[in-house]
Formats: sequence, C-alpha cells, structure tokens
Amino acid sequence: MIKCEIPGCINEGCHSHHIVFRSQGGPDIAMNLIRLCPYHHNMSPEGVHMNPALDKRLKRVLQKEYETVFEFEEKELTVELVADRIGMSKKKAEKYFSKVPKNPDGTMDRENIIRRLMGGRLY
Ligand SMILES: [Zn+2]
Ligand SMILES: [Zn+2]
Repeated sequence: MIKCEIPGCINEGCHSHHIVFRSQGGPDIAMNLIRLCPYHHNMSPEGVHMNPALDKRLKRVLQKEYETVFEFEEKELTVELVADRIGMSKKKAEKYFSKVPKNPDGTMDRENIIRRLMGGRLY
C-alpha cells in the first residue's frame, strides 16, 4: 500500500490528487499529482479540498519544483524542451501551451510557462 505524501502521515488507501485542479488548468503529469489519504484528501476539515492553507502549501511547493525544472538562465524554452522536462507528450504540450505568449523565435518565457502550469496564477 502506498502511504500518504503529507509529512508525518502514515495512512494508506490513497487517492491521486491534482495539486492544481484539472478544472483550474492543472495538467495530467506526475509533478502535478500527489497521493493523499482520505483524511488529507477531502473527507475532513484537514483535507486539501477543505483546508485552504494545505492547498496553498502544496501549490507553493509545486511552483518551486517548476522553478527548479526551468532554470533562470535559460532563454530558449521551446515547447519541445518544456514537454520533455515535465513529462508531457509534445503533441499534448503544443495544445496545452497554445495560449501562452510566444517570443518572435517561438520560445516561451519561464514565468509564463509556470503561470500556465499553476492555473494562471503564481503563489
Ligand atoms: Zn483532489
Ligand atoms: Zn494523510
């Protein structure tokens, strides 16, 4: 059985939770998924769907991970490179990032990529 990913929690019987909800534009990639026990998912006041502080904490950690994946110095962030780093197919990424502003050479800025992955806002 897989244990809950909340530090200190030893509960099992986990669900897969989208850190940035699919309804908010969160992608279906491993980085955006976390295993949560029923208690930390949505069946108690401590569940991520009921507890805004926990929700925000998970989103902040995820944003930091994206910031690490896309280094500051990099200028040429092509859709191919982004797809490769986050484990998304190129075809899916082209659609997913289609509304992100592109530079004249077709690349995207790091902040705009992260904003898209975070569902339109930064934490
Ligand atoms: Zn959920
Ligand atoms: Zn838990």
